[in-house]
Amino acid sequence: MPNRSVESHRGDTTCLRSGCSRTVHPGVVTGQALKDLLNHAKENGYAIPAVNCVSSSSINACIEAARKMDAPIMIQFSAGGAQCRSPETGRFYAGKGLDNTQFHAAIAGAVSGAYHVRAVAEQYGVPVILHTDHCAKKLLPWFDGLMEANERFFEQQGEPLFSSHMLDLSEEPLEENIEICVKYLERMAKFNCGLEMELGITGGEEDGVNNEDANPEDLYSKPEEIFQVYDALSKVDNGFFTVAAAFGNVHGVYQPGNVRLEPKILDRAQKYIAEKVGMEEGSKPVSFVFHGGSGSDLKDIREAVGYGVIKMNIDTDTSGGPGWRRENGNRLL
Ligand SMILES: [Zn+2]
Repeated sequence: MPNRSVESHRGDTTCLRSGCSRTVHPGVVTGQALKDLLNHAKENGYAIPAVNCVSSSSINACIEAARKMDAPIMIQFSAGGAQCRSPETGRFYAGKGLDNTQFHAAIAGAVSGAYHVRAVAEQYGVPVILHTDHCAKKLLPWFDGLMEANERFFEQQGEPLFSSHMLDLSEEPLEENIEICVKYLERMAKFNCGLEMELGITGGEEDGVNNEDANPEDLYSKPEEIFQVYDALSKVDNGFFTVAAAFGNVHGVYQPGNVRLEPKILDRAQKYIAEKVGMEEGSKPVSFVFHGGSGSDLKDIREAVGYGVIKMNIDTDTSGGPGWRRENGNRLL
């Protein structure tokens, strides 16, 4: 990663020294600051690590690592991580004793984690993006609860509680996926919250979705499909979105060489869409997210980042290994 120092005077409208917009500041960034930070990543060829956290101590460790690296970071919660569904993994934020009917505990866990991040992030002096991970169709009540928490926070503070959220409707037909994403993005645009969507199939297994036997062809998104998404979501007034496309990426730990990543899929999509919408050659209209990067070759990761990947998810490397392995989470890029 290039060195992106952040001046740490609290409450100041300071910015990244390398020229990032003056909206970007230490603490949780939302709205215009979120857009500016992610655009800065795209323009300067780096991706921001997004780490799945399950406790206040893992959040603190991540933000401390960000401070040591003098770089922004994303903290994200999954429905499972926000409330314990599988006690053996030790993943919980709200506490496994809470009733999770209608995802109440998972909502409370994510909200509680968000307030913790908000209480400490600014003091660490780095910009933090507050996000939630995969949300499949069956988890939409969890998402709705988070939307209500954002709306309540927005009424009081003039910004959303979270910077952004992911909707993963990649198991549904693409038309339905897009339709639901547009509906939610319209709602989120009202309180300046970003949406991450997924299309195609990320191989492997995560959060109870097992794609280990997926049709190999479905592991690679087509430029036309990514354009369909871009076209529909771009029409939402004040909408801000990122796209997790499939390019051979696989959830879980796989040794380099076992996964055939095709980052050029992202390049082809950028060129196809730029031409379709009349942008000049070399533009990168889409902001991509890289899921399932664990075990990927650094060369492939760097190539993907060069094609507009601005967010790199880190979960297995930190939660699946023996304890917290901070260096794994931060040496990737
Ligand atoms: Zn993922």
